[in-house]
Amino acid sequence: MRKKIVAGNWKMNVNLQQTQQLLTDLIEEANTYPSDVKVIVAPSFTNLQTAVQQLENVNIEVAAQHMSEHEKGAYTGEVSADMLKSIGLNYVILGHSERRQYFGETNAKLAQKVSIALANKLTVIFCVGEELENRKNNTHFDIVTQQISEGLFHLSPVELDKIIIAYEPVWAIGTGETASPEQAQEMHAHIRNVIADRYTIGVADSVSILYGGSVKPSNADELFTKPDVDGGLIGGAALKADDFSAIVNARS
Ligand code: 13P
Repeated sequence: MRKKIVAGNWKMNVNLQQTQQLLTDLIEEANTYPSDVKVIVAPSFTNLQTAVQQLENVNIEVAAQHMSEHEKGAYTGEVSADMLKSIGLNYVILGHSERRQYFGETNAKLAQKVSIALANKLTVIFCVGEELENRKNNTHFDIVTQQISEGLFHLSPVELDKIIIAYEPVWAIGTGETASPEQAQEMHAHIRNVIADRYTIGVADSVSILYGGSVKPSNADELFTKPDVDGGLIGGAALKADDFSAIVNARS
């Protein structure tokens, strides 16, 4: 039985004081969260340690939004998996479309990041998703298959167990345009089939696949009740404690 997961990606929106306030608001609502839902928030690097401390003994986990593909060394400005682990983190988001688009993260580079994250005992939220162009010319399944196979298929079945996949169609991110529940379900089922072909049906069945892209309280129920949608990766709506909590509490 896969656990529902709701993760908030705060992107580059929240400074230290705003982080503390948002966390305070979330903590007030955290006692309404069902015990079978895993809740994760991803503040910026500068605010991760504060978040870990503020959320001690609270049922909300902390993730980083990305990390280096290098172990350590002369990589000015980069943050390593070991650094994240050393402040008490257990999760990292990798391969977000904004990282792929603006910061040159290729599938090959992401495969390295995934390996380093796992070697440091970080669970990876691995993002995939097609652009509007791909959907228009009907290559969306191929693109996502390629992202999954090049980014993840070097892993053993045991390693793959430490991966949460987030399907985020680029055309639905921050646009207010959500994939329909049927489009999300169709792609999530496709991803599960691709994993079953490479590994086993058992492995595919145990991988959590989140949907991301304009999820809000008003559409979370119908997305999360689809059989292969195991929760969401939330952007804009994660910046408001009420909205995020409503999504955590949505039916699944
Ligand atoms: P929005 O929810 O703002 O569309 O962002 C989704 C996202 O990119 C989460 O990682």
